[in-house]
Amino acid sequence: MKTIKDLDIDGKRVFIRCDFNVPKDEFGNITDDRRIREALATIRYCIDRECKIVLASHYERPEPGKYEERFSLKPVAKRLHTLLKIKNEILMAEDVVGEDAKSKADSLESGDILLLENLRYEAGETNNDESFAKELASFADVYINDAFGACHRKHASIDAITQFFDAAHKAAGFLMAKEINFFSKMLEEPIRPFVAVVGGSKVSGKLQAMIKLVDKVDKIIIGGGMAFTFLKALGYEVGNSLVEDDLLAEAEEIMQKAKARGVKFYLPVDVVAAAEFSENTTVKYLPVQEIPEGWMGLDIGPASIRLFREALNDAKTIIWNGPMGVYEMDRYSKGSTMMSNIIAQTHATTVVGGGDTADVVNRAGDIDEMTFVSTGGGASLKLLEGERLPGVVALQA
Ligand code: AMP
Repeated sequence: MKTIKDLDIDGKRVFIRCDFNVPKDEFGNITDDRRIREALATIRYCIDRECKIVLASHYERPEPGKYEERFSLKPVAKRLHTLLKIKNEILMAEDVVGEDAKSKADSLESGDILLLENLRYEAGETNNDESFAKELASFADVYINDAFGACHRKHASIDAITQFFDAAHKAAGFLMAKEINFFSKMLEEPIRPFVAVVGGSKVSGKLQAMIKLVDKVDKIIIGGGMAFTFLKALGYEVGNSLVEDDLLAEAEEIMQKAKARGVKFYLPVDVVAAAEFSENTTVKYLPVQEIPEGWMGLDIGPASIRLFREALNDAKTIIWNGPMGVYEMDRYSKGSTMMSNIIAQTHATTVVGGGDTADVVNRAGDIDEMTFVSTGGGASLKLLEGERLPGVVALQA
């Protein structure tokens, strides 16, 4: 894959598609700025080459055409300025491809940075609209895609925009290259034993990835809501726990495939169960055989944690995607926190994918102990599914 290093960008106008879709609290404070920090390498590289830099990103899902303040990228501009430790302000456009963005882009001097407003304020972004893409492309001579977290989507700033740049004027940024290289190397030549830990709410979102992983790994550990579909497929009564009844056959098939390939398959043996989806209720620690009718499993229990620790003991490569329980509620977060601690303490190469999982690892204080924490949830899943990402395909077209 061609990267920014392969292009001649000195003094040029460079458009960098970043993924600044960072989590914020109810007061609008950025709670995890990893995606901004990970973009710094490419931005600094362009500053050092005296480029005029135009940055663009989406932020959450505003209604197109409505410029609501809570979806503005202004807090990102501020944080980016702090992290870059540069004297000059970062220019913040009031719009995406409007008058303000255009006049600010025209005023850029070498080394200056302009951040466009949230791309999704414009309907053309998600529609992969060609004329919108053309307007974005008119900001620059060179296009760099460093938005790994967004490059599984065929959107205008990811896909349509690339047709306006020839091969000598478009490439991947450093973050994008790092993410893709890491995943492909891990999947192609993992050091064994290779263990996949998969959790989260649903089997459906991760089915394809799991089917692919069964072919590659030595062990699979399942937790989170999706475990109940597997447990039900094995004949357990799981009460009101999250189950996708239409996927029982697929769950069964994955377990059969694992068995046929000699892949060890681990499911929770106990759960933290409650009668309602709430923290303020009675909870019980129960073996999976004893979930009462009407109750639901909301976290893995202590016996499962011990079992999973044993299974991870000899791992040399671990990939983790999806929390072990409803970690957003303190009462059901222990399984995920403990899983983070266990994985962080192994001597394995540890790779974390998915926004929720990265959040768990962050909250558990383990982020620096992991080998690699991906900035992309959906995009990393697509790589595990063995698919080429639209953003990467577009760069190479
Ligand atoms: P995903 O987006 O599929 O990775 O799922 C992440 C979500 O799964 C988190 O918001 C968790 O709260 C949720 N989750 C994890 N375990 C359970 C469970 N046992 N029951 C319901 N939801 C769960």
